[in-house]
Amino acid sequence: MNLRNIAKVELHRHLEGALRFSTLVELAKAAKIDLPYDNFKKLHEALIVRSPMKDLKSVLDRLFTAQALLKSEEVWERISFEACEDAFNEGVSLLELRYSPFFASMNHNHMTYDKIHQSILKGIDRAQKNYPMAAGLIGIIGRIMEPQDVKRASDFIIGNASTFLAIDLADNEEGFDCKPFAPHFERAKNAGLFVTVHGGEVPNGAYAVKDSIELLFADRIGHGVQIYKHPDLIELVKKKNVTLELCPLSNYLTSAVPRKEDHPFKQLMKSGVKVTINSDDPGLFGSSLIDDYEILKDYHGLGLEDFKLCNRNAYEACFIPNKEKFKAAFT
Ligand SMILES: [Zn+2]
Repeated sequence: MNLRNIAKVELHRHLEGALRFSTLVELAKAAKIDLPYDNFKKLHEALIVRSPMKDLKSVLDRLFTAQALLKSEEVWERISFEACEDAFNEGVSLLELRYSPFFASMNHNHMTYDKIHQSILKGIDRAQKNYPMAAGLIGIIGRIMEPQDVKRASDFIIGNASTFLAIDLADNEEGFDCKPFAPHFERAKNAGLFVTVHGGEVPNGAYAVKDSIELLFADRIGHGVQIYKHPDLIELVKKKNVTLELCPLSNYLTSAVPRKEDHPFKQLMKSGVKVTINSDDPGLFGSSLIDDYEILKDYHGLGLEDFKLCNRNAYEACFIPNKEKFKAAFT
């Protein structure tokens, strides 16, 4: 089974976490960032997370290093194009990319939300002209953001409802519950946006899935991996026809599951939950979506028919409008 050749739909890939390694190095060099450029191994270690993180800081440091380099319209256009191109080369013809306008523009005062957004759209458009694929954008609000920033970012996402597919809530679930975000998510839903929410990722976070569905009207859940121990949550997700965006490698690297073989992917699939396979932050992890398929094949015995089912689930739950979906090469 050639995993690359499987026709794929990917629902959960962060643009800021999907930077191509060669581009990251090129941008860092141009910005004269002090890194061990002559030693590939050390350079890789400085920029990429490849073993389970011991602390969140080491992951965030790498993300911030990358974000600091994203300071022009040309760069945003380029990385958006490359994120689509890389996904296409991994077999993805329907791709949902997500980014946080707040995080993207942080410390880049000259880069407005609108400048960044238009540059991303240009990059996606170029990819769609070059490859038989369709891609769309999800706008992220962070749980840890200050209320005025939440308002500003959600106003922006809602004000651009014609070029965003959906709104998402991300960041630390612990200590930051869904409730304060409910009015913004209600406005987004009323503006015609879909909703996906990062929830049930960390070991104690299972019930964030219930809040995401009941308070934020989630159509899909980012991760949701921890519901496997809770039959009531499995029933809720099934009853509400909510699809899970599972990310096996990411869950291992962020210690959401202790070992690759501990991921409850198969258990969730067997219980009738609609599961999908996603890469989350392939640039940050030095991975590709193929690595996630490999984990499921090697450690969990998933076969071609299982992968087809996951991609059919993703196709059905994909927020990209039908007329765009039909243009893509996914069959
Ligand atoms: Zn994510």
